[in-house]
Amino acid sequence: MELKVIEGEPPARPSKPPADPSTLEHRNLLEGDFWRRIPAYADVDEATFLDHRWQMKRSITKVPKLLAALEGLVAPGFIEDAKEGFGAAPMAVRVSPYLLSLIDWSNPYEDPLRRQFIPLGSTRLPDHPKLRFDSLNEQADSPVPGLTHRYPDKALFLALDTCPVYCRFCTRSYAVGPEVEQDELEKLSLKANKQRWDDVFAYVATRPELEDIVISGGDSFNLRADQIREIGHRLLDIENVRRMRFATKGPAVMPQKVLSDDDWFGALVEVVQRGRELGKDVVLHTHFNHPNEITDITARAMKRLFSAGVTVRNQSVLQRGVNDDVDTMQLLVRRLGYVNVQPYYVYVHDMVKGVEELRTTVDTAINIEKNVRGCTAGFNTPVFVVDAPGGGGKRDCHSFDHYDRVTGVSVYTAPSVKPGRYFFYFDPIHLLPEEGRLRWMDPAEHNKILQEARDRAQARNR
Ligand SMILES: *Cc1c(COP(=O)(O)O)cnc(C)c1O
Ligand code: SF4
Repeated sequence: MELKVIEGEPPARPSKPPADPSTLEHRNLLEGDFWRRIPAYADVDEATFLDHRWQMKRSITKVPKLLAALEGLVAPGFIEDAKEGFGAAPMAVRVSPYLLSLIDWSNPYEDPLRRQFIPLGSTRLPDHPKLRFDSLNEQADSPVPGLTHRYPDKALFLALDTCPVYCRFCTRSYAVGPEVEQDELEKLSLKANKQRWDDVFAYVATRPELEDIVISGGDSFNLRADQIREIGHRLLDIENVRRMRFATKGPAVMPQKVLSDDDWFGALVEVVQRGRELGKDVVLHTHFNHPNEITDITARAMKRLFSAGVTVRNQSVLQRGVNDDVDTMQLLVRRLGYVNVQPYYVYVHDMVKGVEELRTTVDTAINIEKNVRGCTAGFNTPVFVVDAPGGGGKRDCHSFDHYDRVTGVSVYTAPSVKPGRYFFYFDPIHLLPEEGRLRWMDPAEHNKILQEARDRAQARNR
């Protein structure tokens, strides 16, 4: 285009037309009484729906009850399919009315929230042959029960073993949730227990290098207000502790609690404020995976936290059919930023039992990252990581020493965490090219595939 210059006037600047409103979809949050679409909640008014006690009391924790709630909403074939899915799944169930209302039941097979919480028999795929129970090897780095001290200056405290929802993709199914029939191993007991907590605090106090404690579980939403205070103040009292994060999935499945549980909210804010006075950083880490999980109710809850000075960051899990495409991830990242939540990490799905159809490849993560970076502020752009199986910790997914897209094996090293060791991640076999699928079909090839990958990684580091 030629620019016309008018004598005496400054040259015209290139002009950017205003954005088409459809590109601002991240601001378009679900509002109104959307829950009334569900027959069981057709008569529920807003005050009731916003009450966290009602959400808790009406959360569904039994498979037959969940299936009964779906009668009339979905085709009978879907209910049979879900029954089969639950029959084989190693996780417990807990679904809040809010979560149930966000699922599009006219298309339950495709719905991204249904995929995360309700397993189906028909989509099940065999686990990868290299998958293990506690794939992150958290128990091997655990000096006291419920504390994982893997990195030099930070540790993970599993304070309790219950959550406001049970996610199919949970890495910690070795400890989290009630026992279910399909468990092959007995769960590790990580109940909220005074003696166990005392042991954890004592350990942290005797390790001067520990500056940063992640309080997880389980889930901080299920800590009582007095327990938030107990953990918060006891950790703040330890001189070497400088940073703390309370981790919770809660805002994604029950934002009502942030709005109406004044006791819990007050306890959190009290700890954050005391931390600030001491020059210590206390924040909330949450876990949204899909833009549909962020509604007008979420925005109000996040605003309440923001106004009270609580920093909120988000960690997502990359899941096939949920958020493994560029548009969805861009929308999620921009919507999080819009409601004052900072996108922090996107995890390549851990090697977890019974959810092979939810995993995707490292290559997919790399491609999505490339397309997300640049769409918003750099500080609101998540880092895409692989939590290296076997205990290498989180690694930028791009930083592999070797990646074979045919066998799907990526090799990572973690010089600052476990020097000298190699860590392997495995893409799901069904997404590999035929050549790779054929090699995995032959068990005699498995060790060769690993050895090859290790040799190439080593050759690179020589
Ligand atoms: C994720 C994690 C942490 C925190 O790591 P950041 O990269 O700082 O978020 C600490 N300890 C363990 C064992 C972890 O898995
Ligand atoms: S809320 Fe977190 S810890 Fe609990 S089941 Fe889900 S992913 Fe696991």
